[in-house]
Amino acid sequence: MDGRGTVLLIEDEEAIADLVRMYFEQDGFRLVHAGDGITGLNAVRDRSPRVVLLDLGLPGMDGIEVCRRIRATSDVPVIMLTARDTEVDKIVGLEIGADDYVTKPFSPRELVARVRAVLRRSEEAPRAPVVIEVGPWRIDGGRREVTTPAGEVVRPTAREFDLLWYLAENRGLVLTRAQILRAVWGYDYVGETRTIDVHVRQLRKKLEGVPIETAWGVGYRMAG
Ligand code: CA
Repeated sequence: MDGRGTVLLIEDEEAIADLVRMYFEQDGFRLVHAGDGITGLNAVRDRSPRVVLLDLGLPGMDGIEVCRRIRATSDVPVIMLTARDTEVDKIVGLEIGADDYVTKPFSPRELVARVRAVLRRSEEAPRAPVVIEVGPWRIDGGRREVTTPAGEVVRPTAREFDLLWYLAENRGLVLTRAQILRAVWGYDYVGETRTIDVHVRQLRKKLEGVPIETAWGVGYRMAG
């Protein structure tokens, strides 16, 4: 049952855990379930999961703190499970280092697809060290950092950088949200365009004046 490796689910609702377990085991993963944050952190240490699915609303230590503590010791991909769409904004803003977010109620099939996408990405060879210049902006794909027109060096989060890179590689073109999701998040459009908007907002905040334009009702375009 563990051909694809171990997925750790940290979730206090048994019904969700049972459902998720069924789908992941059908897909060849071994599912380890922890009902609270402390048990989950121990399992991250002892069970070497390939992916962690982490509920935001846990009894005791909440998912945000659990994610911070995972990140202090491990690079394992973390997908956060949130009860409300509006929470995604908040947790992305906290930059706790999660790789993806899924809003409840989710389809277990979609969750499996997300996990497979996260695994594909984390196993890809590192990006060749290439620099893209967009006007006075310098985007360094090797160092994964951006030099602003003022000469300041900024390091966006991993996902923010991937998004910025994709827009920069295709500068001048309007990219639809579906295209962006497929290229940057690695799965087909399932109605989670908010994730993109939140990441664009973060990039605009960190990189003031970065030429990412909104194509209303369509997606985004980097001028250049
Ligand atoms: Ca919960």
